[in-house]
Amino acid sequence: MKLYNTLSKKKEEFVPVEEGKVRMYVCGPTVYNYIHIGNARPMIVFDTVRRYFEYKGYEVNYVSNFTDVDDKIINKSIEEGISASEVSERYIKECKKDMADMNIKPATKNPKATEEIDGMIAMIENLIEKGYAYAVDGTVYFRTRKFEGYGKLSKKNLDELEAGKRIAIEEQKEDAMDFVLWKPKKDGEPYWESPWGQGRPGWHIECSVMSKKYLGDTIDIHAGGEDLVFPHHENEIAQSEAANGKDFAKYWLHNAFLNIDNKKMSKSLGNFFTVREIGEKFDLQVLRFFMLSAHYRSPLNFSADLMESSKNGLERIVTSAERIKGLLEKAEGTLKAEEKALLEKKDSFAAKFEAAMDDDFNTADAISALFEYVKFINVEAGENSSKELLQELVKTFEKLADVLGIILEQKEEILDEEIEKLIEERQNARKEKNFKRADEIRDILLEKGIILKDTREGVQWKRA
Ligand code: AMP
Ligand code: ZN
Repeated sequence: MKLYNTLSKKKEEFVPVEEGKVRMYVCGPTVYNYIHIGNARPMIVFDTVRRYFEYKGYEVNYVSNFTDVDDKIINKSIEEGISASEVSERYIKECKKDMADMNIKPATKNPKATEEIDGMIAMIENLIEKGYAYAVDGTVYFRTRKFEGYGKLSKKNLDELEAGKRIAIEEQKEDAMDFVLWKPKKDGEPYWESPWGQGRPGWHIECSVMSKKYLGDTIDIHAGGEDLVFPHHENEIAQSEAANGKDFAKYWLHNAFLNIDNKKMSKSLGNFFTVREIGEKFDLQVLRFFMLSAHYRSPLNFSADLMESSKNGLERIVTSAERIKGLLEKAEGTLKAEEKALLEKKDSFAAKFEAAMDDDFNTADAISALFEYVKFINVEAGENSSKELLQELVKTFEKLADVLGIILEQKEEILDEEIEKLIEERQNARKEKNFKRADEIRDILLEKGIILKDTREGVQWKRA
């Protein structure tokens, strides 16, 4: 199994730190708003990486953080007149809902920055003790030049970086490239007690601390979007390796950007769609399938046309799976002599799928292999097929689809007519003061994604 390591700029054979196990850390979102579909790309891509390792028999420990203290969260809390933690808790909840709708497996652990402050203070103290950090007036900086490996991930050289640095050197810093580990509190901001006074951590330190705490000093894979290579991941390496005296992560994986009109989709450019918005138009399974239609290191341009063709592609897969599962229900008998060759053919598609995934998680080629499999099934499986053959075909189908996070079931569509009928029944129940039944009906509809709104003009409904 080969994966492209940003650190070596090469595809390397995957050799885990501990046999049979994968320790993986993926930098998560800053929670001050609904996530946009750009943020969804690393979530979907690295969930698929995790699923593939599991398919191969590895036990995966998958940690992904929520950055829940940050300027943007604080600004939002001021705007809305609520606390920063109310903002972050709200959007963590919304983010988890989106992730579930995209069929992203829950992480082994989702640590939150605000719950790991003690660990961050301890690591910063350790860095100061070792001479890698220094405190000035309540701010603690990392002494970048002291860490010899600085720049090894982004292939940047400190002198070049410094020459290009336009921001005026803050007087307190020994060097323009030194970065903040701890900063003093400002009025109205959340803060914690520390040996350097009241304040809050810089952004980079949280990932170093959480990765160590939940996965150990040296992990297998550290991942995130390509914008994180510098400075975030470069700084994480500096902090962790200086503090622990060990390699931080063996493999660094970075996804390319999701673009729109060939421009990077980002909150600051305002050219983004939230996952929630897309979910109003498409099943989020389609978004997931769309994301995997390109290799994760290739830029991907978002468009309604591509989403439509992903929708059609996904439907083709699911329809084929439903048909063969239907056949299986009625089928009988053990494998027939003439079916042996079909089993071998089936294995060849699985092998093709694996070869694609083994090559740095090439989901685009894996999807092609899956389509070939669909075609094969549509031609070769029929009413005369034995139960044993169909069982084998379905098993492989489900295993491969599961790697991509595709659920092989048609969503049960509820028709407008049925909705209207249930609403009418609910109105009658209410008239009769049978509120239990009325609530029951509301819940039945909610489960099918139908939201009711009682207005003066009557009951209105919409699909979620
Ligand atoms: P942020 O909340 O900005 O820290 O982003 C969370 C994750 O989303 C990081 O791994 C980013 O690299 C990633 N990300 C943000 N925008 C995009 C985009 N347009 N395409 C792909 N990944 C993105
Ligand atoms: Zn991080």
